[in-house]
Amino acid sequence: MTTDNTPSSDFIRNIVAEDLKANKNNGRVHTRFPPEPNGYLHIGHCKSICLNFGIAAENDGLCNLRFDDTNPTKEDVEYVESIMENVRWLGFDWDDRLFYASDYFEKLYEFATRLIEKGKAYVCDLSPEDLREYRGTLTEPGKDSPYRTRSVTENLDLFQRMRAGEFEDGSRVLRAKINMASPNLNMRDPVIYRILRAKHHRTGDKWCIYPTYDFTHCLSDSIEGITHSLCTLEFEDNRPLYDWVLDQLDVPCHPQQIEFARLNLSHTVMSKRKLLELVEQGHVTGWDDPRMPTISGLKRRGYTPESLRNFCKRIGVAKRESTVDIALLEHCLREDLNKRAQRVMGVLRPLKVVIVNYPEGQVEEMEAINNPEDPDMGVRKVPFSRVLYIERDDFREDPPRKFFRLAPGREVRLRYAYYITCVDVVKDDETGEVTELHCTYDPETKGGGSPDGRKVKGTLHWVSASHSLAAEVRVYDHLFTKEHPADEKEGGGFQDPSEPELI
Ligand code: ATP
Ligand code: MG
Repeated sequence: MTTDNTPSSDFIRNIVAEDLKANKNNGRVHTRFPPEPNGYLHIGHCKSICLNFGIAAENDGLCNLRFDDTNPTKEDVEYVESIMENVRWLGFDWDDRLFYASDYFEKLYEFATRLIEKGKAYVCDLSPEDLREYRGTLTEPGKDSPYRTRSVTENLDLFQRMRAGEFEDGSRVLRAKINMASPNLNMRDPVIYRILRAKHHRTGDKWCIYPTYDFTHCLSDSIEGITHSLCTLEFEDNRPLYDWVLDQLDVPCHPQQIEFARLNLSHTVMSKRKLLELVEQGHVTGWDDPRMPTISGLKRRGYTPESLRNFCKRIGVAKRESTVDIALLEHCLREDLNKRAQRVMGVLRPLKVVIVNYPEGQVEEMEAINNPEDPDMGVRKVPFSRVLYIERDDFREDPPRKFFRLAPGREVRLRYAYYITCVDVVKDDETGEVTELHCTYDPETKGGGSPDGRKVKGTLHWVSASHSLAAEVRVYDHLFTKEHPADEKEGGGFQDPSEPELI
């Protein structure tokens, strides 16, 4: 296990180190984090952020923040803003390198025109259904479109008219001319431009054709001088297309795409689409609901940037898909807060305790340690008086074996205060519920130890009834009761209403 101070090592960092040794890219390391602004960032993105910004920082390199905004119907400025805020909050900085794929629309259009001129792209009039049909399957090759042999002149004219808005949405597309028989479906003349009349959050109504992800991503990387383009494994089959596009065109540089396994976490769903469903259907109060695995949700829940960065460091980066238990994430937070949080005592479900031999009206100031892990945090005074509250769960009238907390006749320690012994249990006449305990204290045990050396097994936290403050405490559990809510094998339908799996 690594902690925050030790340097990380993984197969991607090894590749980067090798490249530096070979002086590839003239010794430059330049990465990017490329979110699509169609939702809030989640803990999976955090892995990618730590990786991209981390590798840049470790190698005196740069990391860009780039919004991959080629899908105007799903994108929104609210998402753009939340993403910037989250990345900053996590402790990373893109300086002046904030980019939008939409800033490149004009350049991308030019690149597409170059492809047409080289006979490497054509306008295709097949309907969306026919496109699918002609594409073939994993076991059958695709079929050439009847429009594949259009002349360069005709393609240039049609593409220009697509841009000018002469054709209906979905009536034509621009396709790369590669190989309809390729075993890789991505290489079967993929669509690189589509007609779509939708208002873009940045370019407004300027465009009615939009480039696809595959065409945009590699060129954006190249325009920005990216050296290592890190993405998740599902893009492995897109890599040949990434390389193909760059190989056809006269581009500033040819970044290396490297794939790593995405983070999956137990007891939650991760994809933005599913998280959006939870938000839209009102299962949660919003993207920043403290039960959500979003960075905004984790922040509201009390997670610190340090704990999330450390979590990402611990899970590491590999090629193999796996699911990380949410307990590891929680552990990372506890570990961080343990070191830095000041302790206070609080009681969630109070049970009244009267110390019958403690003088009425007397108050003593007990010395309590602010953080047992860090003496520099000092001590504080905690008032102790005759009437206290302890946690209901810390008392059992009929204690099972191994229950070492308070019970009738039993002596326990009150943290930073005295040993007390339960001498009487007061109950509600009607319900039989325990309403109050009567205890005696031993004045010799002030501070929590006894002169005669007798041992007690339990130590309880407490508050003085008249000095305590009322507080609203929100207790959250996991978002899902199922360990793998998105897993079809576990019943599928991650939010089938017939299954009350959502807490
Ligand atoms: P999702 O599938 O959760 O909706 P996405 O991949 O569509 O996410 P993008 O905005 O496209 O989200 O992702 C931005 C970057 O974050 C990409 O490089 C992507 O590979 C990476 N990323 C997304 N999800 C994860 C994850 N679970 N673990 C690691 N990296 C991720
Ligand atoms: Mg995506």
